[in-house]
Amino acid sequence: MGKALIIGAGGVASVVVHKCVQVPDVFEEICIASRTKSKCDALKEKLDGGKTKIQTAQVDADNVDELVELINSFKPDIVINVALPYQDLTIMDACLATGVHYLDTANYEPLDTAKFEYKWQWAYREKFEEAGLTAILGCGFDPGVTGVFSAYAQKHYFDEIHQIDIVDANAGDHGYPFATNFNPEINIREITANGRYWENGEFIETPPLSEKRVYDLPEIGPKDVYLLYHEELESLAQNIKGIKKIRFWMTFSEKYLTHLKVLENVGMTSIEPINFEGQEIVPLQFLKAVLPDPASLGPRTKGKTNIGCIFQGVKDGEEKTYYVYNVSDHQECYREVGSQAISYTTGVPAMIGAMLLLQGEWKKPGVYNVEEFNPDPFMDALNEYGLPWQEDFNPELID
Ligand code: NDP
Repeated sequence: MGKALIIGAGGVASVVVHKCVQVPDVFEEICIASRTKSKCDALKEKLDGGKTKIQTAQVDADNVDELVELINSFKPDIVINVALPYQDLTIMDACLATGVHYLDTANYEPLDTAKFEYKWQWAYREKFEEAGLTAILGCGFDPGVTGVFSAYAQKHYFDEIHQIDIVDANAGDHGYPFATNFNPEINIREITANGRYWENGEFIETPPLSEKRVYDLPEIGPKDVYLLYHEELESLAQNIKGIKKIRFWMTFSEKYLTHLKVLENVGMTSIEPINFEGQEIVPLQFLKAVLPDPASLGPRTKGKTNIGCIFQGVKDGEEKTYYVYNVSDHQECYREVGSQAISYTTGVPAMIGAMLLLQGEWKKPGVYNVEEFNPDPFMDALNEYGLPWQEDFNPELID
C-alpha cells in the first residue's frame, strides 16, 4: 500500500519499526533515517528479511535541504517523525516542499526554552490544507491515545464532557537509583516546568509537582500522582465541546523525586548553557550523557504501566462518569519488540496513526490533533496491535 520514512532511531523509533514490519501490506517499504546511521542499520539487521523492504539513511533533521533530498530520493507517502520535538518544524517544512504527509508524537519545542505549545505547528494549518496534505500531531500515547480516548468518550458515551483527568502511571522498576524512561532531556524539561491545568476557559499555573493525590489504579494499586502540564491539555480544551476542567497526573516515586530535587538544586537540570573548561555545555544535556540510556532499560524493567482518562459529564440529562485505560507489562513489551512499555506505548499508536492515514481513514488535508479524527478504527487497532483497553463505568474520581 505505501512507503514510510521513519526519522529517528531511538527507543520509540525502534518500536515503530518493529510494528510497521508486522503490517507489511500497509508498510510495503520503510526507510529508517537518523543522525547516527549505525542505529538505523542495527534495526534493519534485526528486522530485515520479511515482506517489508527496509532501507536506512543518515540525515540531520535540523536541516530542511538534507531532508528534502532524502524525501525526494526515497519518495515516501508519509514521514513518521520520532526524532526529537526540536525537529518538528524542519520536518514539516520538508514535507510541504515535497508533498508528503506528516505524523509526530510530541509538539515542537524551541531548544532554548521549555515551552509546550501547539502554536508553532498549528500555524501550518493553511499550508497543509492548501497542499492537500495531512499532518497528524501528537500520535503517541499521551498525547495520542489520550486524545483518541477523549474522542471515543465524546462520540459514544456523553452529550457533554465536563471534566477529564488523564492519569499516567508507571509502576515499572529498572533497578537503577535514577533513570528516565524516555529521552532524559525531554523528560526532565517537562517535569521541572510549572504545573498547569485548564479550568473554566483558562490555564491555572501551579508550582512544579506541588499538587499531589493518591489514586488506586487497576492492576497497579494506589500510587502518588502529581499534577503536571501536558501538551494535550491545550488541544483537548479546544476540541472537546463543553469541557470545563482538564488535568494531567503522573506517578513518581519518592526516590525519583529526591534525586530530581538534588539535581535541580545543584543546577544539573538547567538548560542555560555554561562555560566549562573553555567549552560551552548545557547542564541538562551533560546529565543526559551520564544517565542510563533509556533504550538500555528494556531488559531490566519489570512491572506495569497504566495510562487512561477519567471522564465526568452528562448523557441524556444524567450525570455520568467513565474511565478508559490501557495496562501494559514492561517485560511483555520487551519480549515482543525489545523495548520497555514507555517506548512501546508511544510507538504502537504512531504506527496505527500512520496506517490509518495510508488507508485513507485518517486522511484530511490540514494539521490536526488526534481527537479531531474518527476514534473508532484507532480503538479497534489498539486492541489488535498490542494496546488493549478496558472500561470502568463507575470509577474512583480524583478530588
Ligand atoms: P530517543 O532520544 O531515544 O531517540 C531520538 C532519536 O532521534 C535518536 O535516534 C536521535 O539520534 C534522533 N535525532 C535527534 N536529533 C536528530 C537530528 N537532528 N537529526 C536526525 N535524527 C535526530 O527519544 P525517544 O525515542 O524516547 O523519543 C522520540 C520522540 O517521542 C520524542 O519526540 C519524544 O518526546 C516522543 N515521546 C512521545 C511520547 C508520547 O506518548 N506522545 C512518550 C515518549 C516519547 P541519535 O541516536 O544520533 O541521538
